Parts: sequence; C-alpha cells; structure tokens
Amino acid sequence: MSYESSLLESPIEYLKGVGPFRSEMLKKEFGIETFGDLLMNFPFRYVDRSVFHKIRNSKEGDTIQFIGQFVSMEESGFKGRKRLTAVFQDDTGKIDVIWFRSTDWVLQTIKLKVPYVIYGKVTRYQRHINLAHPDIEAYGEKTKSRSGMIPVYSSTDKLSSKGLDSRGIRKLIQALLAKFRISDINENLPPYLIEKLRFQGRYETLRNMHLPGDEAIRQKAWSRIKFEELFFSQLQLIAAKIQRKKRLKGHPFEQVGSLFHKFYDENLEFELTGAQKRVMKEIRGDLGSGIQMNRLLQGDVGSGKTVIAIMCMLIAADNGFQCCLLAPTEILAKQHFNSIEESLLNLGMHCAFLSGSIKGQKRKAILKGLGNGHIHIIIGTHAILEDPVIFQNLGLAIIDEQHRFGVAQRARLWAKGKTLPPHILVMTATPIPRTLAMTLYGDLEVSTIDELPPGRKPVKTISRKEAGRTQVNNFMRAEIAKGRQVYIIFPLIEESEKLDLENLQEGYERLLQWFRQPDYQISVVHGRMKSHEKEYEMQRFVQRKTHIMVATTVIEVGVNIPNASVMVIENSERFGLSQLHQLRGRVGRGADQSYCILMSGLKVSEDGLTRIKTMCSTNDGFEIAEADLRLRGPGDVTGTRQSGAVEFKTVNLSLDYKILQTARDIAQRILDNDPEPEKPVHRPIREYLARSAHLVREWHRIS
Ligand code: ADP
Ligand code: MG
Repeated sequence: MSYESSLLESPIEYLKGVGPFRSEMLKKEFGIETFGDLLMNFPFRYVDRSVFHKIRNSKEGDTIQFIGQFVSMEESGFKGRKRLTAVFQDDTGKIDVIWFRSTDWVLQTIKLKVPYVIYGKVTRYQRHINLAHPDIEAYGEKTKSRSGMIPVYSSTDKLSSKGLDSRGIRKLIQALLAKFRISDINENLPPYLIEKLRFQGRYETLRNMHLPGDEAIRQKAWSRIKFEELFFSQLQLIAAKIQRKKRLKGHPFEQVGSLFHKFYDENLEFELTGAQKRVMKEIRGDLGSGIQMNRLLQGDVGSGKTVIAIMCMLIAADNGFQCCLLAPTEILAKQHFNSIEESLLNLGMHCAFLSGSIKGQKRKAILKGLGNGHIHIIIGTHAILEDPVIFQNLGLAIIDEQHRFGVAQRARLWAKGKTLPPHILVMTATPIPRTLAMTLYGDLEVSTIDELPPGRKPVKTISRKEAGRTQVNNFMRAEIAKGRQVYIIFPLIEESEKLDLENLQEGYERLLQWFRQPDYQISVVHGRMKSHEKEYEMQRFVQRKTHIMVATTVIEVGVNIPNASVMVIENSERFGLSQLHQLRGRVGRGADQSYCILMSGLKVSEDGLTRIKTMCSTNDGFEIAEADLRLRGPGDVTGTRQSGAVEFKTVNLSLDYKILQTARDIAQRILDNDPEPEKPVHRPIREYLARSAHLVREWHRIS
C-alpha cells in the first residue's frame, strides 16, 4: 500500500483535535472512520463572506456581514435573565446587536469605537432590525485578507455538545486539508475526460468543495463531484448488465408459432398501438436470443400491458414452455385469470388459478398439473412461489405491478426454472422517472408503453372540500342515472387497521343515508374481508347489480371495470401521489367521460396541497412521478430506501438529470470500447474502482 492511500485510510482518531472519544462519536453519528471519510464529508451550504454589506440595505432574513463600530452597550434584566444590547454602526446606518448569554464575556472583550466585522442573521424585533449572537472579529489583517465562502457542515446535538458543531467540524477539516498534498489524492478520471468536461483536478476539486473562493469555483467543484458519483455508479450498473448478458443463458424461444398467430389474427379485438408493437418487438428479441430476459415493462395505467403479457405467454407456449403470471392481490389475480382464460378459450390452453385460498383436492390437482405439464399457464398470487409448487418446465414468469414484490420473492422465481432460469417480465404502472429508471434499473432492460389506446378521454379531476358535499352527491346521482357506476375510496391507514375500518364504516353509514335503497345498491370491499366475500362483492359490481363500490385501497391496482366512470376519493390528502394516480387509473377505461373527485379535509399540509394540485393539473404518469420524486426523494418513491441504490451524497436526482445523462453516455462509451476497462488510459478508473471495492453496491440484487 502506498503512502498516499494510507493517509486517506488513517483512522480519524489520529487527526489532531479528534482523539478516541470524538472519533467514536463521528463514527456513530456520521459513519466517519478515516481521514478520507472526513474529506468526503461535504458542506451542505456555504455562506459568502467575500462581500461586506451595508446596514441600510440589509433586510430581515439575510445572513450577512458588516464592517463598523460598536457605539454603545447597555445591560438590562437581572440575574439569570440578563440581556445585553449594543448599537453597531457603519457608514450607512445602525443595527442592534443582542446577547442573551455570555454577556460578561462580551462586556469584557468588546471595545467601543474600534472597527469590527460582525456576521449573523438579520432578524426583526418590533420595528428594529437586529443581530443576535453574531460572530465577531476585530477588523484587521485576517479579515481583510479573507475571501471566499465559509462552508457549513451538518452536525447533530450530540456532536455539537462535544464541540463538533459546524464550526468545530470546519476546523477539523481545515486541519485535514493542511495535511494533504496533491500527490496524496489519486486522480480517478482519465486526462482526456477531465479536459473534455473542463473539470479541475481531483485534489483541487476536493479542496474547493470545502473552501471555494467564490460561487463559480463552488459550482465547478460540485459538478465534478456529482459527475463522479453518477459516473462510477453507472459504470458499475452497465458493467453488471454486460456481465449478466454474457453469463446468464436462457431458453431460446426460437419460434413464434400457431398459438400466437391464431390469437393475433382471430382473438385480438383491436389494433395494437405503435408503442405496444414496439415493445412486443423488443421482448421478442430478448426471448429469441438464448439469453435470459430480465425486462421491466412500464406503461401508464390503461396503456394495455395485459395483452402484451398474453402474447408473451403464447410465445412461451409455442415453444413448449409453461408460464406463470403473478399479481399482488387475490382480486387482481382472479380478474386476470378470468379475462385471460376467456381470451384464450379457443386455443386449447389449460389455465389455472392459484392463491392461498385454494386448498385441499383443488390445490393438489393444480400442483399435479404443473408438475406433469398439463397446465400451461398458472395465474395467481405469491402462493405460486411456495416450495411445493414445482413446474415441469417453467419458461417465462410475468410479474404484474412489480412494486409489491420484494427482491427475495423474485429470487425464488428464478429458482423455479429447472435447467435454466425462466425469462422474467416485470410490469409496472407506477411510472419511474427517467433518472430513477437509469439508476435503479440501469442493469435491466426497460420497455416503455408511452401511448394510450386511441379514443380514451382524459379523466377530469377536481378537488372539493366538505362544503361541496351536496354538490358531489348530486353529481354522483346524475351519473348513476345515466347508467354509470361510481367508486368511493377511503384511505387505508396503515398504523391502525381498526381506525381504517371505522373510517370506512362511518363513511358507509353516511352513504346509506344519502343513497337509499332500493334506488341505490352499494358494494363494500375492504382488506379484512375473506377473499370469497370480496370476490362476491366485486362480482355484484362487475355485473352492474350495484351502483356504488365503496372500498379501501384494495382496488388500487389493476381492476378493470369500464362502466365505472366516477371515482370519489375521501381524505385524498392522505394518499401519496402514485397511489392517487393508480386509483384514478381505475376510471377512464370506457368510452364515457370519466371524473375523479378528490375530497379533502379542512387542514391539509403543504405537501398534501401540492399532491392534490398536481393531480388536478395532469394525467401524465411521468409528470406525476417527477413531482413525487421532488416531494419525497428517491428512496421513498421506489421503496428502496435501505438498498442504497438511489442514495447519493451530492446528487439530487430530480435536478441533476443532465449530469446523469452525460455520466451514463460516457460510461457506456467507455465500456463499449474497453469492457474491463483495461486500457492504460483508463487506469485511473480501474484503480479507483479497485480501491473503493468496499463501496461497490450489489447492484444485481436490486432489480
Ligand atoms: P394496464 O396497462 O393498466 O394493465 P390493461 O392491459 O388492463 O391496462 O388495458 C386497459 C384496457 O385497454 C383493456 O380493456 C384493454 O382491453 C384495452 N386495450 C389494450 N390495448 C388496446 C389497444 N391497442 N386498443 C384498444 N384497447 C386496448
Ligand atoms: Mg394491468
């Protein structure tokens, strides 16, 4: 190990001013263990102390510095509640400076009528502006020569109490920077890239992250560090994809045979959209290649993913393989089963349904049929993943609404293949912002249906408060009178299923008052019901025996009832954006104009309002996903907070799209020409990856 890297790897304990106690705390609070870790602990903002402001032009909220003199000082209050007020003056005006603590120290140290620099946040008290507890320095050589931006670091109460507030951390980092020479910091990008992207060297960049001379230098440093983060993660993702393609053989589905063609020519009632055709081509390419497919199919609600799934299953069957389709809920699985079985009726295929509620002889028969190959297609819930389920030759697994399926469950699917793992198609209607798709699924193939079938009328969305209730009820009656059906959704409150049920119960009883029998019939579905009860209620609604379906979010995904054209969402402020979008996707499936009415309470948070506004202003799932990303951050949006896959130190995925695109393009180009990478010019990259091997995330686990 060279001297250079050993400096970066020195335990933080050995930095002057740290010692064993503080080092333990730095480790606990921030995971900082080495000099290198501290060096990479970047400020979260900077204050610009390269400029002095004038008192007359300052306003409340500014965090700024002045040059001037204290002209008077006065103590008030008494023991324990003392306060000290001074008047500070520059050539434009006066400002009050106030201390509530350390007043004795101030009285002893601060002199009147000599120049000082004071720095702090301007606040207003009654009609006067003032600074409380500013930083104070005698104006002299040091302040005159100081330029640049002061870094501000995040700290915690614990660290602050041991002297490691932002200022304390700043001192440590400055001591650290003084130790490093240019030769201590290894370059990790090849010279041609540094030149092309007009970056500074890595040593300079790291220094400037902590001590930028001015705003332009700060920006330059940050753009390089952001690029590094994205570039190395993309490099790993793309390398993983290349590796997987090399390694993972799959069943070649060489022919598109009679089943597929018969379905396409005779059963398909509509022309595929351009996007559906393109996606089908992409998938056929994968299936025929002899390499295992791992493809994510994303398409907005109602974009027609099911028919894609059916055609893929037929290709598998044409090649003599079984397939399975997994759905997140029993209702959805059952609905898929019913519609798919019906649309394959004339093809002589054997379909079966499996869920936790299928037991005894029925279950035995299904397991047998899967084992001996009699059943071609099995549709169901995660019950399909259980150990006793053994296939004769599973060739393709399709997972609908991926976000409900965990990584471990998907791994179990792989294991269901006999000689080779099955091809995998994951379908999701939760659109993933492009940036996230690139970072999260960068090692997967992604197909996107970005077009809705023709003739869809966009759902009209409005928001209403309780005051508008009568109007909303009248509107529902009018729509029901036209023969339409209505969903009313109550939020599922996860902390308390009981509350959830009470909520639903209460809402249901109010509805019974407003929509009385026998004129109006109501179905109720909620998570606590037995599956046959749910199924019964669903069927009554499907058969139009009921006008209104009252439900908790169990109908969130997948349900397809074209005649239902109105959706009322109660307490809509409690729902997340992607959930609202999913729910709304249940209407607008038929030829009629559909409506979504977002009811909300009196007190709605800022974020809640933004969500409702977003829903009212757009139907575009990708736009909604971008807004969701801005509101919640990537970890929450994808439900992968723990995986670290989308956690970056300096990158903000909703803002840094351009840098991500550049980083991805460059990483792709490098690996295309130099897959290992082993060319001498790429040595800095290879060495950096080797050095940070402990940072390498296990990307392949994420999909
Ligand atoms: P999702 O992508 O949300 O799963 P579905 O597959 O349930 O959407 O499709 C929604 C509806 O659109 C279904 O009734 C389906 O039959 C219909 N559909 C799908 N593709 C087309 C198309 N190309 N033209 C007309 N209707 C289509
Ligand atoms: Mg669907």
